[in-house]
Amino acid sequence: MKVIDRIRETKETLFSFELLPPLKGHSIERLYAAIDPLMEFGPMNINITYHQDEVEYKSIKGKLVEKKVVRKRPGTVAISAAIKYKYKITVVPHLICGGFTRQETEDALIDLHYLGMNNLLALRGDPPRGEKRFIPEEEGHAHAIDLVKQIMNMNKGIYLAEDLANSTPTDFSVAVAGYPEKHAEAPNMKSDLQYLKEKVDAGADYIVTQMFFDNTKYFDFVKLCRAEGIEVPIIPGLKPITFLNDLRLLPQTFNIDLPDELVKELQKCQDTPAARQVGTEWAIMMSKELKAAGVPVLHYYSLGISDNIQTIARAVF
Ligand SMILES: Cc1cc2nc3c(=O)[nH]c(=O)nc-3n(C[C@H](O)[C@H](O)[C@H](O)COP(=O)(O)OP(=O)(O)OC[C@H]3O[C@@H](n4cnc5c(N)ncnc54)[C@H](O)[C@@H]3O)c2cc1C
Repeated sequence: MKVIDRIRETKETLFSFELLPPLKGHSIERLYAAIDPLMEFGPMNINITYHQDEVEYKSIKGKLVEKKVVRKRPGTVAISAAIKYKYKITVVPHLICGGFTRQETEDALIDLHYLGMNNLLALRGDPPRGEKRFIPEEEGHAHAIDLVKQIMNMNKGIYLAEDLANSTPTDFSVAVAGYPEKHAEAPNMKSDLQYLKEKVDAGADYIVTQMFFDNTKYFDFVKLCRAEGIEVPIIPGLKPITFLNDLRLLPQTFNIDLPDELVKELQKCQDTPAARQVGTEWAIMMSKELKAAGVPVLHYYSLGISDNIQTIARAVF
């Protein structure tokens, strides 16, 4: 089923969450162990992130440096299919521009189409860890909008090879990312919103937001989007604080602000379990308020850790 159709028809707030593919060498059972406790809340869908190759530099005998490309979390397409068929649930694989040529993107889309997955989250992707700038592949896409356009073309049966005869149109519904506190690279909110509108005009059915820790940021963002003419549903993405050092790492990594009250509570914590408790309570408070405001879906970033999401879901759904 298309996520957008569920969103349009729902009268109550739905539950969804995001998982990362396991690190290379780790078992898929770990992922199932994260999913199992959340199934009782009837998730509408599970998102599976995509991760670009990373570059590592290794010093050899303390001198020479060897550059090595490592793929730490492969398997997004296969894992999405495994989850879809094991749990009979809608899965939304993420597809990124980074590391892909257009041809490789087309091939991934063909695989997804054959596997019966017709919901996608189309993203540019972050620069690989340790790199500051996003550099597209030579034959790849520089922005998520270009990926959205390629997918929409395939939905019309337009593949990259112009002379392809009898091509089958795909049937993808595409979501894109939005940033209530502005994307880090955007010069200002206005420009970020204009590009967001372009992604929606290109065919995106709905928006999933970056994490935020103050609901006012989400409500203001929705108002700004509507004023910009962006009419599609905007799904709030929530990340419960999970580790003590999230206090430092999340603002730095995701260009977001933590509210004073939350910071003060976290500063009192001596260890990760204490911080996790604070983070869970904060996420419950945010979720209840968003639900009361009638958001169609609450989407949680789980990072493969589900005990806190389970506690939140129990309190909210
Ligand atoms: C819900 C969600 C899920 C995510 N999942 C993943 C994941 O699985 N894997 C991963 O690697 N990352 C993921 N990310 C992170 C995301 O890839 C990064 O935030 C990335 O830096 C931007 O991606 P985007 O799709 O928003 O890019 P874009 O829409 O391309 O925007 C990137 C920047 O360029 C600007 N811009 C957009 N279009 C244009 C244009 N045409 N010309 C000039 N400037 C433009 C925007 O204002 C913005 O500043 C996720 C983010 C969110 C919110």
